[in-house]
Amino acid sequence: MAHDPHAALPRRTAATALPEDRGESPFSDYKVAYTPTQAVAEANRCLFCSDAPCMNACPTHIDVAQFIRKIGSGNDRGSAKTILDANILGMSCARVCPVETLCVGACVYNTLGHPPIQIGRLQRYVTDRALHENWQFYKAGPDSGKKVALIGAGPASLACAHNLRRFGHACTIFEKREVVGGLNTTGVAPYKMKSDASLHEVEWLLQIGGIDVRTGVEAGRDITLEQLEAEYDAVFFGAGLGADSRLGVAGEDLPGVDGAVAWIERMKLAPVDLSGVRHALVIGGGNTAMDCMRELLGLKVPNVTLVYRGTQAGMPGYAHEWKAAQVLGAKAHWQAVPVAFEGQGRVQRAVLGLLDANKQPTGERVTVDADLVLMAIGQGKIGDMLASLSGIRIAKGVVQADERGYTGRPKWYVGGDARNGGKEVVNAAAEGQQAAHAIHESFGK
Ligand SMILES: Cc1cc2nc3c(=O)[nH]c(=O)nc-3n(C[C@H](O)[C@H](O)[C@H](O)COP(=O)(O)OP(=O)(O)OC[C@H]3O[C@@H](n4cnc5c(N)ncnc54)[C@H](O)[C@@H]3O)c2cc1C
Ligand code: SF4
Repeated sequence: MAHDPHAALPRRTAATALPEDRGESPFSDYKVAYTPTQAVAEANRCLFCSDAPCMNACPTHIDVAQFIRKIGSGNDRGSAKTILDANILGMSCARVCPVETLCVGACVYNTLGHPPIQIGRLQRYVTDRALHENWQFYKAGPDSGKKVALIGAGPASLACAHNLRRFGHACTIFEKREVVGGLNTTGVAPYKMKSDASLHEVEWLLQIGGIDVRTGVEAGRDITLEQLEAEYDAVFFGAGLGADSRLGVAGEDLPGVDGAVAWIERMKLAPVDLSGVRHALVIGGGNTAMDCMRELLGLKVPNVTLVYRGTQAGMPGYAHEWKAAQVLGAKAHWQAVPVAFEGQGRVQRAVLGLLDANKQPTGERVTVDADLVLMAIGQGKIGDMLASLSGIRIAKGVVQADERGYTGRPKWYVGGDARNGGKEVVNAAAEGQQAAHAIHESFGK
């Protein structure tokens, strides 16, 4: 294996232990796992369509009909391999993918007036087995003598690194946090997947060997981009998005007003005390806002209200997520934005400005109780941290690249949220994998 120029930097490949009493612990899975009998029964409903639309709907193009057929014939191991060959993050994707808008949404049964095949639950059934029984299908390729640095230990870099190892290239992942897995560990709603499941997946895939993970190392601060470029044969930028965006209104710095993604991370990794919270507001209308609504209601906050500047019909969050939040008691102020937060020592009220159908202020204001406010209005883009590298184009903080993740500057590749501006885990996995193939080809192997 190649010489290690960063032996002095922190190194941790094992998952960091998480406290048992973290905020996410009380949540149970909202889609219960299949028993073997249920899995086989559901698999046997599949029509095994040729040119299956479910496969085309998946960004990683998992051969859905094939893996389902294998479950039906009792070949769970073969089924898991079919999934993982296409997407090494098949376990987490089975739980977190918005299947209603991807594979399940494309299933032909939707057009036949029958319930679509539960592809995500079938995928979960076999990939859970693969992880829990530690089925290992992949070996690192013969040592190529090439080494690749990857920035961030989220889905994009993990998928990229695993694919690179199969080609025999040495990988070092630099992760600024103490935990690995990116938003799979720190962001995904706990009723879909808890942080320990994400860490388990990372540990499982690292068993391929030769992926050195350095946690607590921030690229651009603890190690410069120029160093990475000089010392590695390629660099993959998989650093995701930045901090929660802010509105810039009065009182936003009061304790109790928090960024949604920052709050979710704390709730997933550590205990949270919501005993004093009676009125929570979630600002925004996207999927992070939907998750916050369901999380706060699941944690028994009595009044949880969404504040969105548009109408329910115009909300970018998935309708099925909003429906699920409503079942739990979610309320909403439509066509409203906070114009100030007020309180003595911490937030107690929010002043909302009302908007018309064109999202213009009507001049009317209402004041509502609020002892917790989560701002779910987007995350900043961090591509500008590559601005010093000539040849890399950045548009509104998003790193520009060709369809395989090459940035135009020799050695530099990008994938995941940093490239697509913020999509889903499965897109990050697909882009990480594409970049691995592009990097491998650039080595002329
Ligand atoms: C609240 C929330 C819920 C979500 N829920 C879902 C869901 O249910 N389903 C779904 O499919 N998608 C979901 N997503 C989106 C999904 O999580 C992302 O699309 C996916 O994680 C992107 O992967 P990534 O590897 O590009 O980035 P990330 O997962 O963000 O990983 C990037 C990693 O890079 C690290 N990093 C950043 N800067 C540096 C640096 N300078 N040096 C070293 N390390 C650095 C970060 O700490 C992080 O670990 C959700 C997103 C959010 C915010
Ligand atoms: S579209 Fe539905 S029925 Fe056809 S192969 Fe895919 S899951 Fe099976």
